[in-house]
Formats: sequence, C-alpha cells, structure tokens
Amino acid sequence: MATDETVLSPTTRQLLVLSPQAGSGPAHVAAATVAAVRPELSVRVVAVPFSTTAMMRAVEMVPDRVHGANAVFADVRARLDALTWGAWLPSVAKLTTPAPTLRQHVHSWLRDRSGYLAVHGDPGWVAKLPIGQLAPDRQLPRVPPRGVVATAYDCHAFGELPEVAVATLFSMGLTSRPVRREATSDPTPVWGTAKAVEFVVAWPGVAELSPATGRCPICDEAVWGHDCAFCRVRAIPGPAVPVTAQPAGTPPPATAPHLASLSTAGGATQ
Ligand SMILES: [Zn+2]
Repeated sequence: MATDETVLSPTTRQLLVLSPQAGSGPAHVAAATVAAVRPELSVRVVAVPFSTTAMMRAVEMVPDRVHGANAVFADVRARLDALTWGAWLPSVAKLTTPAPTLRQHVHSWLRDRSGYLAVHGDPGWVAKLPIGQLAPDRQLPRVPPRGVVATAYDCHAFGELPEVAVATLFSMGLTSRPVRREATSDPTPVWGTAKAVEFVVAWPGVAELSPATGRCPICDEAVWGHDCAFCRVRAIPGPAVPVTAQPAGTPPPATAPHLASLSTAGGATQ
C-alpha cells in the first residue's frame, strides 16, 4: 500500500483502511508502513464485521459527489449498515458465523449439490437449499430506510450462483437477477470454504448522509458526530452542511475518494 500512487499523492491527506474484524493485523501493518513513508498523512484503520467483498461493494457505491474523508467514511458506514450479504455454500461443515444447526452440520458431510444459503445479520441464518417456504423474517426489508430513493434492490454475486440460490434470493424479495462479478478475495476466512459464492444486496441509492454536525479544527473537514474520524479531535459545532439526494439508478463510481487498496471488478449480468 505504501507504494500506491494515490497514497503517495500529495493531494491525499487522509487514508481510511477498512479491514475485516477477523484478522485486522495486516491492515495495521499496512497502515504503519504508510505512516512511515508519509508521516503527515492521517491514517485510520477501522475493523468492521463485514467480509472484504461486502466492504468493497460499499466503497464502490459511494457517489462521486461525496467529498471529504469524514463524509466518505460516514457514507461507507451507512452503506455497510444497509447491506444484506451472504453466500451460497456447498457445505457448512466449517462455517461458524452465522451458525448452522447441528443437523445442517451433519448433512454437510453427505453429498448434495444444492448446498446452503447463509446470510449475515443479527443473528443471521443458514438454510438448506432448496427452500420451500421462506420465513418472513428472512426476507429483505420491504420498507427502505428514510431518505432512500431507489425502488428495487440490486445484487452482485462474486462467482457463479447456482439457480437454486438465485431462486431463494428472488423469494427474499430480489426483483432482478444478480450481477455476475469475479471473486476478488478468498472467501475461506469468512465462510470456511473456498467454494463459497458471495453475494451483496443493496439499495443502489441508499444511505443519504444526515447533515454534518460540525467541522474539524485541524483538517477543516466536515464532521459527523463529536470527533474528526482522522484527526481524533473534538469538532467545532457548526451550521449543517446540506447533502443532496442521489437519483435512483446512479451508477457507482469506479473508485471512491480517500480509500485505497480496494480493487473493483466489472462483470456481466448473471
Ligand atoms: Zn480532522
């Protein structure tokens, strides 16, 4: 990361390093390496309970019009909170979160092509495929959060989802087929198998930021909450900064500002 052009650019003043909670060690090492090369840079490492794939999807959905490190950070956090993410798995024998039942665990040792669908959340769930009747609490939320302007979910699948998994996503509330992407990271640490096919469901126009609550006295960036996320100092309460709504269907940017080391990959509709 310390040799990344964007990181080395003098116009980059802050760096946000997102890391999965399980195994944030490499992220801290990378941040320390960058700090050694550019000690004047404000570097923030944030470990979040999401897979690398889900984080990448949240980052690439940040619209171009969101400027400033704190604004991008707040937008990414809001998008992560609104994502539904999971995977199709041929086996749940090595899955820990969400936790499969003992019966599912035992069944995983038998050969069965349909596999399982696992969805993260609070508490998340695992189901053997095919699913006859989906429980209401396993469907995508029907009412979008306040400020959301999109009319339908989109889903990106990172690999080839079996049809039985796509059918379940439709019964969860998806209305269009998942966009097929190439996998960009090894799913094994999150799902227990390299054969897992991850998917991320989101509202394309989600998560309009609330107005900023203040301004950082050091970097002069708008701040959401009490402190600047990068300078770690108390913000000066200030007038609200209006944030305009994003039109539905706005395509995501190829890369988001102020974020590094998260690659993107395009793909065709699955
Ligand atoms: Zn600051």
